[in-house]
Parts: sequence; structure tokens; C-alpha cells
Amino acid sequence: MARSIAEINEKIERGNAVVLTAQEVCDIIKGGEDLAFEDVDVVTTATRAIMSGTYVVLSFPMAEPCSFIRAERAWINNVPASIGPCPNERLGIIDLMVFGTSHSKEKSDYGGGHLFRDIVEGKEVQVKVETSEDESFTKAITLEDIPYARIFSTRNAFKNYVAFVNPRDAPLPTIFSALDFPPGLTCATVSGCGQLNPIKNDPYLETIGIGTRILLNGSEGFVIGTGTRSMATRPNLLGLADMHQMNPEYMGGFVTSAGPECIGSWAVPIPVLNESILENIKKLDKELSLPIMDVNIRQVICTTNYEDVWGSTDLEIEFDPIKCINCTNCTVEPVCPMRAITLEGGQISRDKERCFNCGLCTSQCIGGAFKGNLGTINFEGKKIPIILRQSDRARAIKLAEELKLDILDGSFRITKMVEHIRGGL
Ligand code: SF4
Ligand code: SF4
Repeated sequence: MARSIAEINEKIERGNAVVLTAQEVCDIIKGGEDLAFEDVDVVTTATRAIMSGTYVVLSFPMAEPCSFIRAERAWINNVPASIGPCPNERLGIIDLMVFGTSHSKEKSDYGGGHLFRDIVEGKEVQVKVETSEDESFTKAITLEDIPYARIFSTRNAFKNYVAFVNPRDAPLPTIFSALDFPPGLTCATVSGCGQLNPIKNDPYLETIGIGTRILLNGSEGFVIGTGTRSMATRPNLLGLADMHQMNPEYMGGFVTSAGPECIGSWAVPIPVLNESILENIKKLDKELSLPIMDVNIRQVICTTNYEDVWGSTDLEIEFDPIKCINCTNCTVEPVCPMRAITLEGGQISRDKERCFNCGLCTSQCIGGAFKGNLGTINFEGKKIPIILRQSDRARAIKLAEELKLDILDGSFRITKMVEHIRGGL
């Protein structure tokens, strides 16, 4: 049995298409029921995680025409930017690129990911430009002043990712831990949204290709190829979208012990074109391999599965202010990777929208005010507690639900790819 994207789009227009999220499909299967090809037309998938391979291209007027010949160096909120590629000679306009992993020289916990969210939130950001004539220009701008603002996501949305442990006897600063990674196989950090991940649901890229319409940080965009280090066994995606329509809740900076990283979110529709596509969608966390790497050498030393991470754990972290004992020095506020915890007037509070559900606070809070079961990974029969999640499955589920509603109300159109990307484009 088979169906085409055109047939699916006709059903959507007629109002009788069945669209489910990958979570709904997996809940049905986990509950002991089955789902047949006739039962579902489209499945929405999503992931929210640290996605280092992210940069923005911005183009905007910096000064009056002929105020300077060409820009040479630039910073936004002290985060370094690269000028170009277009020189815009004598136009007073600058084109620039900012990497999601660039760090502010003045503020060690602020980087490109934070800047992108600030821009999308409509905050005023400070631009500084040095020109070929050694002059300096500064300007405060908001997103409204930037006609061209697009995020390009290279190496995003891996099929799934890995868990990390540190078997050595010394702590290690790394982007895979918010604190220096504790030694001695005492804890693990994990990434990957498991059964929700887009490419897990289309592992042979039968429906995801060049021209596939997606939501990138909530904004409609397109897949334009695979990213760096993509391979047939472990593909990833390259995409772009306009920042003007993005939702800041799905973006941001995440502070690790090796500096700030960048968060990205993808939602991808999988049209159920044949039964074999549905079989992959029905695969549960327990069927998805989770390689465990030694963070020192980035090599796989053991393997478990995503059931350890998401099977019976809490997707959201709870904060109970009544349990806070107002420690003289709060041990959580300075290490929260999202800086979502603040101390004001002697009271600790948590910004739920900014919170990533990483779970670090559950092991760092002295009074037990933060609650959430992060689970353990199975390392050769030994249970190693997870102390940090660098993927936010709760938000991935929310994003997949939003995409489902957009498809059903006709505001998001499913596209047929123009070309497969298996060749490595
Ligand atoms: S789970 Fe805790 S540590 Fe992590 S972002 Fe939320 S408040 Fe911060
Ligand atoms: S460590 Fe926990 S209990 Fe102590 S002040 Fe911070 S939030 Fe409150």
C-alpha cells in the first residue's frame, strides 16, 4: 500500500486527514495497540537540543550611505561577528555572520545563542563596527531594523545523539557538561530526543530531502541538505528559516563548562507514504541505540538505549519554592545553564519558560526544591545517574503538537522534496 504527498494534501484540504505526533504514535504502540497504514497520514516529529552548528546572517543599514567605505570588524552585544561575504562598499549597509558558539569577550556566560534569542525577543542589541578607515560606528538596533535575518543550521537534528561519561580520575571542562565533567564514571550527560527525533522517524531520508518544509525554532523554513559530519548511518540536516517568525521559547544559549552553546529546535512532518515508513515511526525508545562515549576521547565505550533517558523519567523539572531553605550561598543559581534561576529580595525563583528541563538543579539544590527523575544509564550492568540532559523532550513534544495543529488547519503546507540528500548534498 502507498499514498502520495498530493493525496495527503487533498485529504488535509478535505478535512479528513489523520495527523498524529510521533509521541502519540509511540504511546499507542507502548499501550499494546497497533497502528495500521490506513490509520495515519502524517506524523509530526521534533527535537530541541544544543545545536552547535548554527549561524545567522544579518543585513541592515549601519550608517548613512558613504559614511564609510567598508566594514572590517563587527560585534553585536560584544559577540564577535564576521563581516560579509558582501562588502557593501560605500552603501552604509553591513552584512554579517554570527556563529551560535561565538562568545562575548566581556561576559563569559553570554554567546551567539543568547544573542539570537535576544534578537528574536525584540530586545535592543548594540552593534559596533570598525571600518577600513579605522573609524568606529555604534548603533542600537532591534529585529525590526534588520530586514534580512536568517538562521542557517548546519549540522543540526542528528538522527539521535549519545551519552557521555568520564571514566578518568580528573574533571574535564567540556561542552557536554554544565560543570566540569565529574570523574570516575559517577554520572552521565545525555543528548537526543529519542523516539521524537525527526530522522529517527525517517532514517533513510525517504521523505526528508531538499525542499522539505520544516519549523525551525517555530518559523517556517526548509531543509537544504545535510550538514558536516553527516553520514548514512548517522545523518544530520542543514536548514534555514527567517528569524522574524521565530519563537524565542525554542531558542537560546546554554552555558557549559567550556562556554556558551546554542540551542535549536526542529519540527519535521513525516508523510506516511508506505508501510515501511510507518514501521520506523513505531519504533520506541527501547529500540533506539544510545552509544555511551568517553568524553575525554570521544569514542564509544558501551551502548544502551533511549529507554534509559526517556522511558520512565520526568520530562519537566518541578520547582517548589516552599522547599527552598534560603541557603546563604545558593548552589543552583550560578550553575543553571539557562540562567533561569534568580535570587531577588531573598527569594529564589525559576523562569519556567527559560528553563530547559536539563535537570542539573535536581542534583545541585541543597534543600531539594527542584524535583525530577532523570533516570540512569545502563553501563555494563552498572547504573550511572544522569545529571544533565542537553535535549528538551518536553519542548519537542510541544513543538510536534504545534506542527500537527498547523497542518490540520492548513497554515502549514507539506512539500514534496525536490531531491534526495542521501548523496551527501
Ligand atoms: S532544569 Fe534546573 S538547571 Fe536546568 S534549566 Fe531548568 S532550572 Fe536551570
Ligand atoms: S540551593 Fe536550593 S534550597 Fe538552597 S537557596 Fe538554592 S534553591 Fe534554595
